[in-house]
Amino acid sequence: MPWVVTRLCRDNVDTACAGECPVDCFYIPNEPGGKYPNQLMISPDECIDCGACEPACPWEAIFQDDSVPAPFQDDIAVNAKCDEDRDAFTNAEEKDNHKPSPEEVAANKKKWGL
Ligand code: SF4
Ligand code: SF4
Repeated sequence: MPWVVTRLCRDNVDTACAGECPVDCFYIPNEPGGKYPNQLMISPDECIDCGACEPACPWEAIFQDDSVPAPFQDDIAVNAKCDEDRDAFTNAEEKDNHKPSPEEVAANKKKWGL
């Protein structure tokens, strides 16, 4: 059962998750914000359901596919695009990016209707 990056990641993309994944199955669009949104995606074909990424995500953006909140259901299909259209994606690498405050995390959830 694959895990899913939801839109809580959008335009945040701190990549903390990518360093935790034992099978390197996080992908980023080659043109973020173009055909696909500026967020990471998990390959449903490659995810081994280990759950290691979820606690590493400071934006609380990652869910198991049967637990994705209702406002984010469309994001399950968005993640699958990194398998269906692999040439449009690159494997994501962890970088040292901004870590949000609790206030920023709460404001981001509110913005996306959670
Ligand atoms: S659940 Fe495990 S295998 Fe799947 S994306 Fe997260 S860290 Fe990678
Ligand atoms: S840690 Fe969470 S918010 Fe950051 S890039 Fe990964 S999924 Fe996106």
